[in-house]
Amino acid sequence: MITEPSSGKIADAITFNDDVSDLKKNISGNVLIPGDEHYDITRAVWNGMIDKKPAIIIQCRNNEDVVYAILYARKHNLNVSVRGGGHNVAGNAVCDAGVMVDLSLMKEIKVDPAQQMVTAEAGVIWSELDEATQHFGLATTGGTVSETGIAGLTLGGGIGWLMSMFGTASDNLLSAEVVTAEGVVVHTDKHNSRDLFWAIRGGGGNFGVVTKFTFKLHKIGPMVTGGMLLYPMEMAKEVMKFYRKFVPATPDELVMFAGFICTPDGIPVTALLTAWFGPQEQAEKMLAPIRAFATPIADMVGPIPYTQLQKSLDAAAPKGIRRYWKSGFFSQLSDELIDIQLHHLQTRPNPMTPVLLFYLKGEVTRINPAETAFYNRKQRWDLDIVTQWIDKTEDEKNIAWTRNFWKAIEPFSEGVYVNHLDRDDSERMRSAYGENYNQLKKIKTIFDPQNFFCMNNNIPPEE
Ligand SMILES: Cc1cc2nc3c(=O)[nH]c(=O)nc-3n(C[C@H](O)[C@H](O)[C@H](O)COP(=O)(O)OP(=O)(O)OC[C@H]3O[C@@H](n4cnc5c(N)ncnc54)[C@H](O)[C@@H]3O)c2cc1C
Repeated sequence: MITEPSSGKIADAITFNDDVSDLKKNISGNVLIPGDEHYDITRAVWNGMIDKKPAIIIQCRNNEDVVYAILYARKHNLNVSVRGGGHNVAGNAVCDAGVMVDLSLMKEIKVDPAQQMVTAEAGVIWSELDEATQHFGLATTGGTVSETGIAGLTLGGGIGWLMSMFGTASDNLLSAEVVTAEGVVVHTDKHNSRDLFWAIRGGGGNFGVVTKFTFKLHKIGPMVTGGMLLYPMEMAKEVMKFYRKFVPATPDELVMFAGFICTPDGIPVTALLTAWFGPQEQAEKMLAPIRAFATPIADMVGPIPYTQLQKSLDAAAPKGIRRYWKSGFFSQLSDELIDIQLHHLQTRPNPMTPVLLFYLKGEVTRINPAETAFYNRKQRWDLDIVTQWIDKTEDEKNIAWTRNFWKAIEPFSEGVYVNHLDRDDSERMRSAYGENYNQLKKIKTIFDPQNFFCMNNNIPPEE
């Protein structure tokens, strides 16, 4: 049985006025409208293609501000979008003519080293959380680009370097504070509002605004061994064959991603990105098979602070340029799939565009898919066509190339990671959630029957 949200005191206590100047007086954060000095910079998100203009941006500082923002939007019948780190490729953090609830000022982080836990507010990004927890030699699974928000990434699942050892970011969530569509603050964990807790671990921003996250922490670093090896494109097939054979058989502490990238001077190369999180004295031995199978043109693998490893892909993902993505899970990295990738890469319209492969193995795959909303847990590759370019006049060319590439590989795909869906992917939501989809719909119907939170990868309530 699904538990319903209880009534909240804050919502009852708030009386509010329609006027924006009253709104400004009543919240401790900022209110921005078109024409205000910081309006344009605040509505800008990571994907430069997104150019939406909210009627009002409410920059919240605490739960009360979020409640106020929600009640204000409801009263004025305005759509609401929620911004955590602003990194979502689909640009769901911002909306046209509605209320953008911007959480980026909510930055409090409290580490409890004795209990190995951290509580962080929803505006925190991964570099900030990693810095705070690594101070105590602790970490939890986070994203592979450090400027991504902890909020959106965790709510969609959260895959990263530590998932083989500790599961997804959402698997490490111990509790959360959620402001519901009714403006009620709910504390949720394994014992309280259990259905809500199940749903927010993978179901995205469909169930409310999550203002606080408490994560389990693990002993990691501060030094680990990791980095990138580069091979010429002529060796691409050989590298991929090694990768598909080697990585599934590795222990949880060894992680390897792969990619087709270009060097800063535009030369296409095949990359293996690897890390060893076990005892550092074993690193050389564990990484030896990678070095033995072929000689790379560059070997940048060595001792590295965990915080630096977490930033190692940042330079390849600069804020503000134009983007279009296609992504899917693949259970086989077959010869045919490799060949199709290499064929399409020959006509890559922009050298900034990488194609990345992450491999799900270890703890993330051992957890039952029914345990949380995050469903696609089989051992498999997540393949991402991360098309990037700068010039607006090249939109059509880049989008067409990505769609053609995707059309060729889609027949091999099995499911998708919700956080990698772009703006034209809404029909793929069911494949993100498989057998969990109907349960998510039921929980949505209880917590948000009018689909107030619809500016997201949306799970509509039952009819
Ligand atoms: C360069 C890059 C690298 C990435 N690497 C990884 C990776 O390694 N692993 C991985 O798992 N994912 C990765 N992602 C995907 C990432 O998880 C999603 O883009 C995620 O949505 C980003 O979170 P955010 O808070 O920055 O997003 P935002 O754009 O702020 O929000 C995205 C959506 O999440 C929801 N949301 C955000 N905050 C809240 C909140 N507090 N309460 C309720 N709903 C909220 C909203 O629906 C919003 O529409 C990457 C994305 C990019 C752009």
